[in-house]
Amino acid sequence: MSKNPFILRLGSFLPQTAGYKREYPFKYPKIQLADNFLLHQFEGLITVTRTPQGLLIQGNFEARHQLQCVRCLNNYDHLLSWELTDLYIFNRRDATKEDLILPDNAQIDLTESIKEEAQLDIPINPICKEDCQGLCQVCGANLNEGDCGHADLLLEKDTDEEENSPFAGLKDLL
Ligand SMILES: [Zn+2]
Ligand SMILES: [Zn+2]
Repeated sequence: MSKNPFILRLGSFLPQTAGYKREYPFKYPKIQLADNFLLHQFEGLITVTRTPQGLLIQGNFEARHQLQCVRCLNNYDHLLSWELTDLYIFNRRDATKEDLILPDNAQIDLTESIKEEAQLDIPINPICKEDCQGLCQVCGANLNEGDCGHADLLLEKDTDEEENSPFAGLKDLL
């Protein structure tokens, strides 16, 4: 596993005419993009196009990353899927601070850009599966792994509370 696999050497694009394009597919079983950011089954396709202004880098990526489910607290492999579009312009005097400038050696390191976009795809409240049952509020058992027998208890409790609520009568009015 190379330490920095996302360095593109793009000197061969410079003499080409606008519209010239090449594709770079890749696949890594496992890659550490940063501390605490390990990706598995990382696949993608990077397309580089020569434009009149510079080199356009487009990428589509998919990888698995371990997250902890907020409902059942189990770790699971979350599928991240993200894109990237960066235009590296040829060095010009009117380039602004926001512009990405193609270095003189025509080498681009995409690692940071790929990492940042990937991290944007991490959900704030990860859930291992759409219908994750979470943990039992009584005994803490993982309800995805079976019924601990407390489901009825909770249901009864909820009903009782509703009956005793001073607002229970409102339900009939509504
Ligand atoms: Zn879960
Ligand atoms: Zn339980």
